[in-house]
Amino acid sequence: MFGLKSDWSLEVLPRYFTLEDYQGAEARWCPGCGDHGVLAAVHRICRDEQLEPERTVCVSGIGCSSRFPHYMRTYGFHGLHGRALPVACGIKARRPDLHIWVATGDGDCCSIGAAHWLHAIRYNMNMVVMLFDNNVYGLTKKQTSPTSRPGLKTNTHPFGAWLPPLNPIAATLGFPNVSFVAGTVDWNPPHVHATLQAAFRHKGLSFVHIAQRCPQYTPGVFAETQRDPSLLKLLTHERGISLDPALAKLLPNSVTHDPSDHSAALQLAQEEGVLPIGLFFQDESRPRYDDYIGRGLDMTIDEKLGALQAELDRFAV
Ligand code: SF4
Repeated sequence: MFGLKSDWSLEVLPRYFTLEDYQGAEARWCPGCGDHGVLAAVHRICRDEQLEPERTVCVSGIGCSSRFPHYMRTYGFHGLHGRALPVACGIKARRPDLHIWVATGDGDCCSIGAAHWLHAIRYNMNMVVMLFDNNVYGLTKKQTSPTSRPGLKTNTHPFGAWLPPLNPIAATLGFPNVSFVAGTVDWNPPHVHATLQAAFRHKGLSFVHIAQRCPQYTPGVFAETQRDPSLLKLLTHERGISLDPALAKLLPNSVTHDPSDHSAALQLAQEEGVLPIGLFFQDESRPRYDDYIGRGLDMTIDEKLGALQAELDRFAV
């Protein structure tokens, strides 16, 4: 794009990115899958924030939601099962200038990737982690996941899952150095957008739990919550997720929650019978490992060689 300067010479105007600049391949999720809406929200946020596509990376593990990088026209890494977070942390360690979105599922993150989940939260590197929680392994055709509710009949538990499910929000709040935890539901697009935008703007690792519908294998899991909006508990606060008041009115069950109050956040996360959504916790003062590990990244090759030589000289005999 060009503009005309007053001295009649041409100047290159800054680039402007449209939604199409972020839209990758056509999504192959099932019709009605909650992942579609989240993808649309991420495209919009990339456009709203004018992220350079070449400086944006989407990283995933394995699962239905982990197909996310294919549907973004940015850099992407579709990794191994449970390994999205170490890949994302590795990218951030070497390229702190990149914007990183991580897509992971309840099986991917909370089971095989659980150790990485804990340490990524502790490392608190600047990125958005979206946990798509549909309470089941969808890609591998309906096995019990760590968040499956007791009684859910699956191919691994045909008489019903029977262990108590893991609560990803409560668990994350219990990890050391946690700095941002929020929750949303895929069937409320303005809330998904506002939550992911707040997550993107946070400095540190933003963990966003997304209750995600899987009409193929767990059609009943969120059906009642979707039908009855009072089963959602909207967390509101001046420093929380800002939602248009007209839309907030559609959610009659709301509570003011100060996101700096960690104990209250933990209590809310463990409430039974309702699904709280909004910002549970935020603390931008927590240390970020990318601040520490990024030192020296701007050194020239000669400076690096000099530093290496000086280090080796310390052990000269
Ligand atoms: Fe979505 Fe479920 Fe289909 Fe996977 S199986 S694409 S989670 S609806």
